[in-house]
Amino acid sequence: MTQRAPRYLLVFVICLAIAAMSAAAPQKPAKAAVDPVVAKIIELGTTDNRVMTWNDYASNRFGGRETGTNAYTDTAEWAAWQFRQFGLQVELDEAGEVPVGFNRGPWFGKMIKPAEKSLYFGTPTFTAGTKGRQRGPVAILKSDPFSIPGRNAKPEDVEKKRAAVEAAIAEVKANPAAFKGAWVLIPGENTGFARDGRKGTPEYSDSQLIPKLTSVLVEAGAFGTIQSSKTDPFRMLDGYVASWDKLPQLPDIKLAEGQYKEIKGLAEQGQTVELEFDIRNWFKMGPVKYHSVVATLRGTEFPDEYVVLGGHLDCFSSGTGAIDDGSGFAPMAEAIRLIQAAGGKPKRSIVVILFAAEEQGLVGSQAWLRNHPGIADKIVMMINRDGSPSAITGASVPETWLADFKTITAPLVSLNPKWPFKLERGVPRAHATSPGGTDSSSFEMQSVPTLRFLTQSDFNYNHTWHTLDDLYDELAPYAAHQQESALVTAVVAYGVANLAKPLTRQGVYLADGLYADIAIGTGDSPAHIMTTLDFVNAPLQTADLIRVVEGKGGERGPGFGRGPGGPPMGPGPRPEIPPIGKIDVKDGLVTGLVVSDVQKTVAIPSLPLTPNAAIKNDGPGVIGLTGPNAFYLTLRQRSGLDKTATALGRTIAGLDLLKTFKKGDPIRSIRILRVGQAARDFKTDDESFKKLLEGQR
Ligand SMILES: [Zn+2]
Repeated sequence: MTQRAPRYLLVFVICLAIAAMSAAAPQKPAKAAVDPVVAKIIELGTTDNRVMTWNDYASNRFGGRETGTNAYTDTAEWAAWQFRQFGLQVELDEAGEVPVGFNRGPWFGKMIKPAEKSLYFGTPTFTAGTKGRQRGPVAILKSDPFSIPGRNAKPEDVEKKRAAVEAAIAEVKANPAAFKGAWVLIPGENTGFARDGRKGTPEYSDSQLIPKLTSVLVEAGAFGTIQSSKTDPFRMLDGYVASWDKLPQLPDIKLAEGQYKEIKGLAEQGQTVELEFDIRNWFKMGPVKYHSVVATLRGTEFPDEYVVLGGHLDCFSSGTGAIDDGSGFAPMAEAIRLIQAAGGKPKRSIVVILFAAEEQGLVGSQAWLRNHPGIADKIVMMINRDGSPSAITGASVPETWLADFKTITAPLVSLNPKWPFKLERGVPRAHATSPGGTDSSSFEMQSVPTLRFLTQSDFNYNHTWHTLDDLYDELAPYAAHQQESALVTAVVAYGVANLAKPLTRQGVYLADGLYADIAIGTGDSPAHIMTTLDFVNAPLQTADLIRVVEGKGGERGPGFGRGPGGPPMGPGPRPEIPPIGKIDVKDGLVTGLVVSDVQKTVAIPSLPLTPNAAIKNDGPGVIGLTGPNAFYLTLRQRSGLDKTATALGRTIAGLDLLKTFKKGDPIRSIRILRVGQAARDFKTDDESFKKLLEGQR
């Protein structure tokens, strides 16, 4: 089962040779010796990397491990057993339960008449199977409540849908014989969710309205409904079951759109069409509990400080979750195995959590934090992986982490010529305030620093994301990417867990306030300076700067959202966006002039430059305005400015980069960040700006 990668092995040997050569050259300072555990992690990670084995078992032995399935329970038990075999401490952390379980057997479907052909289709999780093999003609339902949005629907849509359901019920009741023993073609297009809604909550209005129609179809003796589905992506999500006495009864088939069209066309021409389906979806009496799997390598010196690695173990059940999130949890599981197998005895504890029920709303990560009160404060860093099988090619870290990360990642820089590890200096960021996206946000909500790896691949995530195609054969071509990611994660996690002092939390997240992230320079990685913006004491000038960047009504200028370290936009290098201005350097100041299409839409001839009593130009890194589209950053104390310009704020990241700027360097972008309610409420639209302007004249 071991994945061998001889190419990596060769690279490793060459690296050793280079290291030996440079050590022999006396004129150069000797390279710091690589920690023997790290050397061993790299050796095992290149010659005995088992990341694909983790995934192979989870995807191919257990299959679609959705919350509430036997496959999930079995995968969790297997993973726990596997971690124990590797000598780790293991816990199953209860995350929740579903009232009724769900499992899948095989599913088949074909057209019998007018010609025999097999059908390509799926059914959402927690929807009914057939009663064995069922063959019958097709019926077409003309009324259409299905095309009206069902999730977070507007009140008028809910009313429209209610009326359409009533019309459909009347249509079936008018001629029940037409639906008896028939496969019913329904209108609308598959969204992945079950016909009868995803949850029994008002958010999913389908679950309030459609079941009435479903009951009428069941009464009429229909075999099931068939809806058209796009095939790339062929999205397949889930429904729900509230209790054992309310099990779904009417199969909910989503059929490839080409076949749907063909069948409907034949039926409309009056041809005899006969279909046969055999779908073994079945329910299990609940409640069915589900657990996150937690494996710990105890720290030797600070066992109560933690480095947490996470990826969710659950997936949707119509695929096998090889990508989402097999490609995320497997590198994490393999990383801790590599550390343990390399004889790693880190100072801090390293914990891997394979989260339950991420797809149901980050349930497992929320539960783990709730089940371990106070632990968030002791987590020095969390790495979550959930996205694509891409290779880790670097990391974007706050400047307060740079020195430690340079040391930790030094052995990775020239390890793999395909993905040389690159360290980027990031700026502080706003942390998540509500659960969303993936499990890392549960940790960010409690101010746990999360690491941003940079990744690279040409993988088409949309094709597999929550689709019938989330399968191991989609992952297999990316084995090298996965191995690289497991190895890099192991080296970084071990390095952070083994630091003499814990990573600081300073400079990771922003406190409430308004901020400007200013990118200056050429090439792939411009320098980022982050400053505060004093919208309380200098509201007019702050509003002016925001408008110069974002335009009149807060529409986003070209510089918006180009901060470092965010998720990669796609394969290949980031698109080059034209600079929005230029800087000059003289007289103890870096001055910037913003001239862009967005700036021109808000241009005003002059701006009152009332001094800001709260901020003095008393040292380097003060940002202020000298004109409507001209800002400055001080390189040293410039108290003369206190009377003529408006100081806006202070540099909180990248202070040391100020002196590297040269006359003519381009201003690549300015991004405004609003953290907290007060900053979000600060308005800069035309009307608000006019009021501010009149207030100061
Ligand atoms: Zn996911």
